[in-house]
Amino acid sequence: MIYADNAATTRLDSKAFEAMKPFLLDSYANPSQPYGFSRESKKAIKDAREDIASCIGAASNEIYFTSCGSESDNWAIKMMSGERGTIVTSVIEHHAVLNSCRAMEKLGHEVNYIPVDPSGLIKLEILNAAIKDNTQLVSVMFANNEIGTIQPVKEISDIAHKHNCLFHTDAVQALGHIPVNVHELGIDMMSASAHKFNGPKGIGFLYIKNGVKIPSFIDGGGQEKGLRAGTENVPSIVGMAKALKENCTHMEENKEWLFALENQLINGLLQTGIDFIRNGSENRIPGNVSLSFKKIEGELLLHRLDLMGICVSTGSACDGKKAQISHVIKAINVPEEYAKGTIRISLGKDNSAEDIGLIVKALQKIICPIAYK
Ligand code: PLP
Repeated sequence: MIYADNAATTRLDSKAFEAMKPFLLDSYANPSQPYGFSRESKKAIKDAREDIASCIGAASNEIYFTSCGSESDNWAIKMMSGERGTIVTSVIEHHAVLNSCRAMEKLGHEVNYIPVDPSGLIKLEILNAAIKDNTQLVSVMFANNEIGTIQPVKEISDIAHKHNCLFHTDAVQALGHIPVNVHELGIDMMSASAHKFNGPKGIGFLYIKNGVKIPSFIDGGGQEKGLRAGTENVPSIVGMAKALKENCTHMEENKEWLFALENQLINGLLQTGIDFIRNGSENRIPGNVSLSFKKIEGELLLHRLDLMGICVSTGSACDGKKAQISHVIKAINVPEEYAKGTIRISLGKDNSAEDIGLIVKALQKIICPIAYK
């Protein structure tokens, strides 16, 4: 099996797994209890919070654990729009942001969805013009999950702050893959998810800058400073911190490796003579390769590749049985004859040059007899 769907989820880092084990089997105490047995879980959470904070240039009391990236996005969007304040976001956000915005619209809030250019970048002058006097929140993703495009985050936060708005970014695809420093970038809130950087599934965090006032998302006990109740998922918190530290330590070498694999993939495909477009901007998340092939269905490619033991994803969301072109592929205006043939190959640090050779051969075997018959 060749796994090339790392933007969907990643394999758990073995060091993260080892770090989690004691908190599953031995130190399983509820960290909120006052007795000595809970001391280790309490300390593990404190250490994890500090480690995560140091990876993103934050203070440890600015990290709030959540159950996933979607929860972090929901919290930031649904709790921050205040009294009928408007929200400005982009058309290519993940559905965790888009559907949270739709929920806010139902409550009477106005949401302004700004367009992107063909490489998936928002235009700063459009953002600037979209912000109104009553805009409270600007939410633009750090990097796109389908096409990998990295937004000019510092410039976006500068514009948001110039208008006295808060700036939230969904960094689920960026964190652990490219440098992220919340203070240098002027980020007020940032969503993250462990399973996208070789941590466990079902754990994430929301960075909330000190001084930003946000209502609680889950009411209950006093966990996470009373803002996000629920007994802490200690093993996963520990695993998330370890995985993030590992990824940040090896970021440069991982990036180089992934760029080498991407080049091999693109050059290999070019040599086959297959007609395709590569989507996204020049500045992309390492390993994210979105390709649109002419005269072929992405769904068909995905299933044929699956039969050959290769896992990729389509750029399309499935609506029942009808394959649709995704909102991102539509937003970047991929020409119609290519748009339906979009797949996302997202490479990870465990992929090899041999994997790439096999992916190219498989695509050639599938596409050439169909598109060039
Ligand atoms: N935001 C982005 C950009 C994503 O890619 C994803 C997952 O694909 C999410 C949010 C949701 O993260 P989670 O799966 O942890 O809820």
